[in-house]
Amino acid sequence: AWQRVKRRLRAELGEDVFASWFARLELQEVSGGVARLTVPTRFLKSWIESHYLDRVLATFRSEADGIESLEVGVRGAMAPARPGAAAIAKPAPSPRPAASVSPVAELPEPERAARGAAPEGDLGGAPLDARLTFESFVVGRSNALAHAAAERVARHDGGPALYNPLYFHAGVGLGKTHLLHGIGHSVKNAGRRVIYLTADRFMYGFVNALKTQSALAFKEKLRAIDVLILDDVQFIQGRSIQAEFGHTLNALIDAGRQVVVAADRPPTELEALDERVRSRLAGGLVVEIGTLDEALRASILQSRLEAVRASHPAFEVGPAVAEYVAKAITANGRDLEGAVNRLLAHATLTGAPVTLDTAETAIRDLVKNREPKRVKIEDIQKLVASRYNVSRSDILSERRTAAVVKPRQIAMYLSKVLTLRSLPEIGRRFGGRDHTTVLHAVRKIEKAIGEDTALCDEVELLKRMLQD
Ligand code: ADP
Ligand code: MG
Repeated sequence: AWQRVKRRLRAELGEDVFASWFARLELQEVSGGVARLTVPTRFLKSWIESHYLDRVLATFRSEADGIESLEVGVRGAMAPARPGAAAIAKPAPSPRPAASVSPVAELPEPERAARGAAPEGDLGGAPLDARLTFESFVVGRSNALAHAAAERVARHDGGPALYNPLYFHAGVGLGKTHLLHGIGHSVKNAGRRVIYLTADRFMYGFVNALKTQSALAFKEKLRAIDVLILDDVQFIQGRSIQAEFGHTLNALIDAGRQVVVAADRPPTELEALDERVRSRLAGGLVVEIGTLDEALRASILQSRLEAVRASHPAFEVGPAVAEYVAKAITANGRDLEGAVNRLLAHATLTGAPVTLDTAETAIRDLVKNREPKRVKIEDIQKLVASRYNVSRSDILSERRTAAVVKPRQIAMYLSKVLTLRSLPEIGRRFGGRDHTTVLHAVRKIEKAIGEDTALCDEVELLKRMLQD
């Protein structure tokens, strides 16, 4: 069950958040309804306790019976220090704090290489992935505008920043991080100062700076750069951190420094952020990257295949197989990359050429796993209505009796969690409701799930039924 909990946290919170905070979270024991978890550092313990305890508990409860509460301990904290080892036992201040929470071994190959490289200074700025450049970015209809804006910003030097901030948003795997790294490389090669941070690194850097009483130095360093790139800002949370994020944003923009930001949703939907911060984020250029159409998928696939062939000359993938893969993998660039890795593994292990048959087997789970994720709001409404013995039109109606309100809120919550629809869009699909009504429902159910195990199970069951 613990492995399932971890897998779900990874899926729900995203790779970066998971790698930063949870990859080293381990289950020690479960007894008397208490699950004892351990982490390697006190900081990690307090961070998880203050930000994620409810979430971990709710997830754990839905995967295992009889869990009442969680305790987080620090691994090795109780180990008696050997005599004479006092100097070693005292935790030495790490020159690169992020390294202690981003275990390199658990990352997939390319990310491992990227993160293992030297960090940029001591800000916890993540190193740039050498593969994610403008040169390797394939331009198509859905990302042409984003790409053009990225190049302009990257090539710009002197004078006030062009679009500030430049804000990209798109679903998972559609190339946001790739473009951000592309900007990073290009700015760096031009000899200008750039820092790339994920929301988690930003939070970690800031909290760590507070802890070591160097918050001022941290801020000053951040503000002394030419271009600040922030990835996955939807994960910024916590009152003091989001306030700090707002200050940093204002300071940089007011000083004419370029800020580039990416998130999985438009600025108006960053619910965890203050209204003023949201409008500041919306005040520059906001560009959406659309889903990859088949032509773009095919080009990305070709370019990945060529890149791989540089190091594996014997690796051949014929046009029919390539076409099949580009048609079958519809979700995103990450899965396309996954598919290429599968094909390569298959070819290397068997020594046989990649046929349509082997390709189909190799990528079957990628095709299957992604398909059911595209849940329709209409299906959610139908399923929830039938589970709660109301009609779909009740759910869409104005009626406010408890018997209708609860399923309506659950359906709205599921629509937010299982589809890529925005809050206003969900509101429209629920009988023309306002997005604040949807937000209220989502928050309410989120909270209720954390407090009520039965409801949590119920919602989990609905999710599974919808995704099968
Ligand atoms: P996001 O940050 O939006 O989740 P990524 O930038 O991490 O997505 O992209 C996921 C994978 O897909 C990466 O390997 C990336 O290189 C690849 N990819 C996405 N879009 C493109 C593109 N237009 N050209 C080349 N590779 C792409
Ligand atoms: Mg990304």
